[in-house]
Amino acid sequence: MTEPTLFEKIIDREIPADFVYEDEVCVAFRDVNPQAPTHVLIVPRQPLDRVANAEEGDQAMLGHLLLVAGKVAEQLGCREAFRLVINNGAEVGQSVFHLHVHLLAGRPFGWPPG
Ligand code: AMP
Repeated sequence: MTEPTLFEKIIDREIPADFVYEDEVCVAFRDVNPQAPTHVLIVPRQPLDRVANAEEGDQAMLGHLLLVAGKVAEQLGCREAFRLVINNGAEVGQSVFHLHVHLLAGRPFGWPPG
């Protein structure tokens, strides 16, 4: 048995978090170290370490995460302007190896990203 990821512990309510959405496939909760006025993580219940390791069978779950991002943005009043980020690999900033989509909003964002 592998050690549960930090986000599995959050999903299992072993570690507290500020949940804003959940369904049978994923949950969404506020990032503990927000990088914007709105910063939510959308996390599949089924752990997958990173998006590059997704397989054909993950297609519905991956699409679902984006649909939920739109729903959560609507719910939080930021549907007109938000950014979604998935870090894949420590070199680009991934620190939790349980796939998650960052939903960021509430301030201007530069492009290209840092
Ligand atoms: P990443 O660096 O893309 O893997 O994103 C991981 C995110 O998880 C970071 O933005 C962290 O601030 C966030 N994070 C770490 N621990 C917690 C926690 N206990 N509750 C909520 N967010 C967390």
